[in-house]
Amino acid sequence: MEDKLKFLLVNPTAPQWQVKPGRKPRRSTKTFRFSMLPSLHVAASMPPDVETRIIDEDIEPIDFDSDADIIGISFMTFNAPRAYEIADKFRNEKGKTVIFGGFHPTFMPDEAAPHADAICIGEAEPNVPRIIEDYRAGKLQKTYYNGLADVSNLPILNRDLIDKSQYITPWALQATRGCPHRCTFCSVSTFHQHNHRTRPIEAVLEELRCMGKHVLFMDDNLVGEHEYAKELFSRMIPLKKTWFGQGGINIAYDDELRQLAAASGCHGMFIGFESLSEDNLRDSHKRFNKSSEYKQVVKILHDSGIGVFAGFVFGMDNDRPDVFKTTLEFLHESGIDLLQATIQTPFPGTELFEQMDKEGRIFCKDWSRYDFTQVVFEPNHMSRHTLKHGCDWVRSNFYSHPAIWRRVKRAFGYLSPFLSFACIGVMNYNYRTRCTVNHIMESGKHFRV
Ligand code: SF4
Repeated sequence: MEDKLKFLLVNPTAPQWQVKPGRKPRRSTKTFRFSMLPSLHVAASMPPDVETRIIDEDIEPIDFDSDADIIGISFMTFNAPRAYEIADKFRNEKGKTVIFGGFHPTFMPDEAAPHADAICIGEAEPNVPRIIEDYRAGKLQKTYYNGLADVSNLPILNRDLIDKSQYITPWALQATRGCPHRCTFCSVSTFHQHNHRTRPIEAVLEELRCMGKHVLFMDDNLVGEHEYAKELFSRMIPLKKTWFGQGGINIAYDDELRQLAAASGCHGMFIGFESLSEDNLRDSHKRFNKSSEYKQVVKILHDSGIGVFAGFVFGMDNDRPDVFKTTLEFLHESGIDLLQATIQTPFPGTELFEQMDKEGRIFCKDWSRYDFTQVVFEPNHMSRHTLKHGCDWVRSNFYSHPAIWRRVKRAFGYLSPFLSFACIGVMNYNYRTRCTVNHIMESGKHFRV
């Protein structure tokens, strides 16, 4: 019988979030840690004779003296420089075999190649057994092109591979993968080849039955297919879960879908509103969002007992310096519960990146700056300085103490007191802490309305 192979899966992070040796992870950033679902899926795809360990650099330092045979590193764009640093150290100083996977190496394989022994393009799971076989045979290939994973029969995840206490909830799952839309700034859709795949509902229910009460759907667009979502939600009702998810604005327009979501325990949805400008929505292929209806959308969701976590992007080509004031007024008036305000970022793999790169507008390719808080391209109708400080001004005002308490008080009208405090209150304050650590509260003061 062959020896057990040891596989270490590493999740790199930005320097300000790394846990230093001997220190504990920050409690306030727990809100932003989402249970390592992709790594758990890769681990579950390993053949039985492979022992897998997961290190999340957000919660523990990397053990460079690990006795693992293979180091797998999965990364996005913002943590690519850190991933290369880790890979170089493991390969050059420790003689380890390093394999890359994730969004950034998928879209930038030539850049990633010198730092790794092999690269997985696309979802790694379908090729994991073959990679292990090739490694054992000494025939590891430089590149593995993966088709989309077959989600009809996903293996059961071993959540004991992570420290459950360190994540917002250990009970994260996906019922679907990908998104049917093609927004120009979105790499999710490209990564999944513009495909929206649904798992068998019985398999999702089986997974849910083994989970705790509070569940997080990590789907890119949980309501991408209405009929599927309706059946899932209706069959979830007897499970009595409380859940949060991410989906399109369409959930507000389909009464049956929304009512079933609420009846099955939905208490919050992240929705990418993106912009109040219809021109921006048109240019980014997101015309299905109608900004004139946003306030009504928020009200409808609140009336159903669903909190609204909104994503807004600043610096799109039709934005002018007045966008910050107009959007902040809208955010306050509409009653949005939580905000993810980001500076437009042209990620590799997106149509936006191709277009801006061709136009010579991307002035910075230091990927560590691609964290949604920094300007890396030349804006169309404002200076880089205005874009940076304007976006920070929106965030710092939205997360001011009086504004947070107004939201908590208002949430009592549509959420339970527990959810108003534990979700709206705590998450707002965690966002505020994140803004403080990233110097956003300070930077926002430099913007003049
Ligand atoms: S709807 Fe959302 S997930 Fe789908 S392509 Fe657009 S931004 Fe991406």
